[in-house]
Amino acid sequence: MLLLEPTTCPGLFYSTPAQDGPLSRLRIPAGLLTAPQSEAIVHLADQFGVGAVQITNRANVQIRGVQSGIPTATLKHLQAMGLASPIASVDAIRNIMGSPTAGIDRQQLVDTRPLVQSWNRYLISRPDFAVLSPKFSVCFAGGESVCVGDRPNDISLVALEVDGQIHFQLHLSLGERGDTPQAVGVLIKPESTLEVLAALAEVYRDYTIQGSDRAPKPRLRELLHNWGVEAYLRLAEKRLSWRLQRSEPRINPAPANKTGHLGVHPQRQLNFSYVGVVLPLGRLTTHQLQGLTSLATQYGSSTLRLTPWQNVLLPDIANAHIIAVQQGIEALGLSTSTTHPWSAIVSCSGMTGCKSSATDTQSHALALASYLEQHVTLDRPLNIHLSGCEKSCAQHYPSDIALVGVATADRPSYTIYVGSGSTQFGQELYREQAFESLPVMIAHLWQTYQNHRINPDETLGEFASRHSIAELRQMISTPNLATGGET
Ligand code: SF4
Repeated sequence: MLLLEPTTCPGLFYSTPAQDGPLSRLRIPAGLLTAPQSEAIVHLADQFGVGAVQITNRANVQIRGVQSGIPTATLKHLQAMGLASPIASVDAIRNIMGSPTAGIDRQQLVDTRPLVQSWNRYLISRPDFAVLSPKFSVCFAGGESVCVGDRPNDISLVALEVDGQIHFQLHLSLGERGDTPQAVGVLIKPESTLEVLAALAEVYRDYTIQGSDRAPKPRLRELLHNWGVEAYLRLAEKRLSWRLQRSEPRINPAPANKTGHLGVHPQRQLNFSYVGVVLPLGRLTTHQLQGLTSLATQYGSSTLRLTPWQNVLLPDIANAHIIAVQQGIEALGLSTSTTHPWSAIVSCSGMTGCKSSATDTQSHALALASYLEQHVTLDRPLNIHLSGCEKSCAQHYPSDIALVGVATADRPSYTIYVGSGSTQFGQELYREQAFESLPVMIAHLWQTYQNHRINPDETLGEFASRHSIAELRQMISTPNLATGGET
């Protein structure tokens, strides 16, 4: 039966309590899902959850409201399907990140899928890695246009070409929580990548064992802060039979365009395309997931790809079938548009999944998207981020509009930030505004921006950044918006 042990990171064997019931999570390495696996998830969510799943910002699948235990026979079936680790104690380690367009991206330097699968097999077969922080995370970026190299991970391997040869540049989490990992001046040949990763993980394991009684477990960035990068690399080299290749650190990957994978995109395979589907906060009913799986089976390669931006790709669609697939997606009540309000909004788990949250960000995000869908026409991508507290887990890059939850006695409220400014969220536009006033205000802000932007390429964030707060307030003032909480 499912073990309901409290933990900060849910797995399939270890659920996490949430407001709407225990939360279970399936690791899907690099978000690569086969049709039979997807159908097994549909069955699981229907039988033990509430008939819905959510894709996370690490391309995991979460099943909410798992009230009854999952029988051992079902867990064994999921293990056999490759949806659960053979060793339960390592199942909670973070999902491996990879580009959702690995192997099909026209810009890629190397197909990282074999590396993802090999590293996953290695990781989940090592019971000694169960001592690691469950937040230990590894990322493979193969030079795709849909880049994941900037995403926060403990270790990122980023492909680049050096003297006509493909190497992976080693990046480590040297900064603060949520920062992009930094290049540390090491180049690794693709065939040596797993050996190096194993050595790095074993040194980190030994560091963790030294403080075995500690909770929570130390993150890799703590080791790097305490020992320094050089000491860490030297200890890893001792486990290898060769020296790491040193070089000047090269440019860090640019942040990915978070909507760049939506819609129809030609693949490197001639006459084939992938179709990016936008999901409301990563949510799908089991009916919708089954429908996408059927489309992938009928028109594609019986595979789906989950993205770290909480969306889904249907790859390997013959160009002659694109229209049929788009119609099928619309019939499921889903969209492929980069300007659909669902693609505009990112939210952390909020009150339903996190004790630190002051507000129910997920419900508010869905209500805001619904209002914008009915009242404005987005003619270019917009980025709105809702966070239940100032930690900002769900997004680590600037947004056009950031809403940060505030604990107030009587009603759910947010402080609103726009563009860039003196805080991590941008310029503070209003403080402690009741959520009910926000959809109207944001629609006004969008319309004001549309009427006054310099040109169609100017983003709402850029527009807001070139105006003072007083000017912005004047332009978007509405009778319903309180004026308290001056900045
Ligand atoms: S941003 Fe705050 S409220 Fe949201 S998930 Fe992170 S810690 Fe929880």
